[in-house]
Amino acid sequence: MKQKITAQDLIDKTAALLSKRYVRAVQEHHVVVAASVLSKAGKVYTALNIGTYQPSIATCAEINAIGMGHTAEKDFEIDMIVAMRDLPSYIISPCGKCREYISDYGPKARVVMPDDSKKGWRLVKIADLFPYKYEKKGL
Ligand SMILES: [Zn+2]
Repeated sequence: MKQKITAQDLIDKTAALLSKRYVRAVQEHHVVVAASVLSKAGKVYTALNIGTYQPSIATCAEINAIGMGHTAEKDFEIDMIVAMRDLPSYIISPCGKCREYISDYGPKARVVMPDDSKKGWRLVKIADLFPYKYEKKGL
């Protein structure tokens, strides 16, 4: 029987990668965010952001993790996703660009969002985080 992967498992994997690879410096290897994606197939993909000297062209960790899943699985779909930053690590809300990716690659995805509860997070549906998304009509 396949072991169920929980939100806490994703948080732990994300924090572990960030702890191992964290680099805060204004240079091309600036790494401050890690993200983990759980696919509908039950696989986990964990990635770092790719920083650049020009911050506006850097790539978010969430998008890199989604790219890993998209590459590995033909019918890849996001079940759950979390992003964390800094050391000590804390959960962050995905940016607008990432919400677009999450919605496209996981219309029913659950996003681990920071909150003020004792455990510090809760699961929110991407449709609630990103309503009225961009859609192409008539194609
Ligand atoms: Zn982002």
